[in-house]
Amino acid sequence: MTLLLKAQPLVDVRIPEMQQLCSRLKAQGITPKLVVVLVGDNPASLSYITNKRKLCEKVGASFELRQLPPSTTATDFLEAMNGINTDPSVHGCIIQLPVYGESAGLKLEALVDAHKDVDGFHPTNTANLYLGRVHVKSLLPCTPKGVMSLLKHYKIDVKGKTAVVIGRSQIVGKPMSLLLNLAGATVTMCHSGTGDLSEHTRRADIVISAVGKINLLTAQHFDPARKTVVIDVGMNKNAGGKLLGDCDFNSVQSVVAAITPVPGGVGPMTVLSLIENLLTAAQNQKENV
Ligand code: NAP
Repeated sequence: MTLLLKAQPLVDVRIPEMQQLCSRLKAQGITPKLVVVLVGDNPASLSYITNKRKLCEKVGASFELRQLPPSTTATDFLEAMNGINTDPSVHGCIIQLPVYGESAGLKLEALVDAHKDVDGFHPTNTANLYLGRVHVKSLLPCTPKGVMSLLKHYKIDVKGKTAVVIGRSQIVGKPMSLLLNLAGATVTMCHSGTGDLSEHTRRADIVISAVGKINLLTAQHFDPARKTVVIDVGMNKNAGGKLLGDCDFNSVQSVVAAITPVPGGVGPMTVLSLIENLLTAAQNQKENV
């Protein structure tokens, strides 16, 4: 029987905990506030932002969408970011990708102050992860953080396990590999230049796919005897507009021990981690005043 690693049971546990933490902060005069900066009005971006707003408000935090026109100059964008970074009522900020126009040419990852960087992309936060300086106050990239929380919730111990991460992006693949490594896994990072993907995945205890290709992984990529745990980060729309992961779900779930559904697996964990980071950032800033 394949275990379905759904996010909802963990989200249900975490929301009341976050509500309590938020109430405690409010009692101390701090209302955690998230600002999302959006350039333009990309419908997909707006729908991602809605999920973030909903959870933010559900836990009792404050939310603001700072929408800038596509014609925004680099100077205006930097000025807006400076305003957010220096505003003590803002505890967390993310720049919703993609951005357009002149802003796209900026080094976006460095523009949110490292203490407010709830996406975990700032070079200081990246360096801390690289250096292994990870603790409860760390602002970690949301998707890898969410995957680690999901594995922990389902009592999947990664220590001593063989893990294969497919994808090496700055926002998912690389930080995912580092977190698994820090947790004691032996990690292989695959990418578009990897010769035979199945040679790696068939020997893995844990496979995390963060590529963005429908049906990249099928039953032939897994050895049923290995009882592999599969985390599907991929979010792809098929021709009919249906959301699918990187796995051919029916084929893969028949040969592995556990798998995340898409939707309902990694996606909600990413949003949960963002709001966890917001509360962490608010706490950190309270302690540093
Ligand atoms: P990305 O920046 O495009 O990176 C994709 C990675 O996949 C690259 O490292 C690329 O290798 C690798 N790749 C491409 N084709 C491959 C192949 N045939 N075999 C092995 N590796 C291959 O994408 P991303 O931002 O990391 O996102 C990856 C996927 O996760 C997307 O579907 C995205 O929508 C999804 N995502 C989901 C969440 C969530 O919350 N569920 C969050 C973030 C992203 P190279 O480096 O060699 O080009």
